[in-house]
Amino acid sequence: MSTLAQRSVQAVWHPCSQMKQHETLPPLPVARAQGLWLYDPDGKRYLDAISSWWVNLFGHGHPHITAALHQQLDTLAHVMLAGCTHEPVVALSEKLGQLTGLGHAFYASDGASATEIALKMSAHCWRNHGNFRKTRFIGLRNGYHGETAGALSVTDIPLFRDAYGPLLRISATVPTPDARKAAPGVSAEEHTQHCLQALQAYLEVHHAETAALILEPLVQCAAGIATYDPAYLREARALCDRYEVHLVADEIAVGFGRTGSLFACEQAGVRPDFMCLSKGITSGTLPLSLVLTTDEVYAAFYDDRVARGFLHSHSYTGNPLACRAALAVLEVFEQRDWMAANRETAARLTALCAPLMQHEKVLRTRQIGMMWGFDVDTDDPGFARRYHMAALQRGLLLRPIANTLYFMPPYVIDEEESAWLADGALAALNEALAA
Ligand SMILES: *Cc1c(COP(=O)(O)O)cnc(C)c1O
Repeated sequence: MSTLAQRSVQAVWHPCSQMKQHETLPPLPVARAQGLWLYDPDGKRYLDAISSWWVNLFGHGHPHITAALHQQLDTLAHVMLAGCTHEPVVALSEKLGQLTGLGHAFYASDGASATEIALKMSAHCWRNHGNFRKTRFIGLRNGYHGETAGALSVTDIPLFRDAYGPLLRISATVPTPDARKAAPGVSAEEHTQHCLQALQAYLEVHHAETAALILEPLVQCAAGIATYDPAYLREARALCDRYEVHLVADEIAVGFGRTGSLFACEQAGVRPDFMCLSKGITSGTLPLSLVLTTDEVYAAFYDDRVARGFLHSHSYTGNPLACRAALAVLEVFEQRDWMAANRETAARLTALCAPLMQHEKVLRTRQIGMMWGFDVDTDDPGFARRYHMAALQRGLLLRPIANTLYFMPPYVIDEEESAWLADGALAALNEALAA
């Protein structure tokens, strides 16, 4: 084990990790990064095929984003946002309002906090309307919205939630439109309809105490890149309208072009009441999250009485450096037609993945925008770890979700890097299966 890794496992409690496993698989020491590549202290390189947990859109060390950050650092690093304001937070809010039609932005620093804000805002909005009963939420089966207590209560991933069950006010879950979950002999279309019927049946009985439905538009990423039909999203919006329930679109993972449109909701022609954004928003440079909402929600809080305001806060709310990074990311989006470019990039990587997709142990594959998912026919609990290790040996950072292999590379992945990824992933799969 390298000295840095050794010091790390002594002093750093790593996230989403059983620390004991680091006895045999130490954390990867990363000294620097450029483009798609992470470099360890000895100069060995690893292709960051999962965008460092889905945050990096344009590669490490992107010159435009880096320059904007340097300039902002020399101007204003931070100021509190209660009672003060600054150009980056205003400009970012204006731009995102134009892009989404949601003209009011509330800021935090991580995705889970954005979930908390949307849930609190929704229930408080109903309360300000004089409706004190609407305090419950609905999530989708296998949904993921973060791991603070409020966010975990709408997250349906038992491994993350079970230990904390007694601490949470767990929300209702309705069946997921995940196309893989269709019963044998049921078409994907019928499955979507069954899920909508279940949502309607739930709302019919419980709408009076339900504040909001929260979902990940088009792809439940943490569930294993589980894609579903935009028709579900469209009809869920209509049901929310009919039963007077807010729709919270958690675009933390899918926002900023990941699914092939700037926001996934666009593909269903849906405007949510709340949109949560984070992850790609600063292209992996600084933590930032926000919730966008409508004039109607905003108006419900606008009052002479302080207690009717939304008093939620975080110390680093609207940090100027992070907002400036996000503006630079939007500028990069304006420099070219990235959605068209990504279609070509994706087609190239998909073609290179043919041998992986046709592998006898790969059961199902899916691709949407710049995401790929491959379900492997194994129930060996050691598979994901072996695959991760085999990939590292081939200079690839990949972290499967149980038996689902997935790629979520930065949008700037070139042809050579795509081949490196496709070839390395296939070799790692064969090695992990052989063990
Ligand atoms: C990652 C994620 C979150 C939580 O964001 P954090 O910054 O990790 O707290 C919430 N929702 C979705 C869909 C995510 O992918």
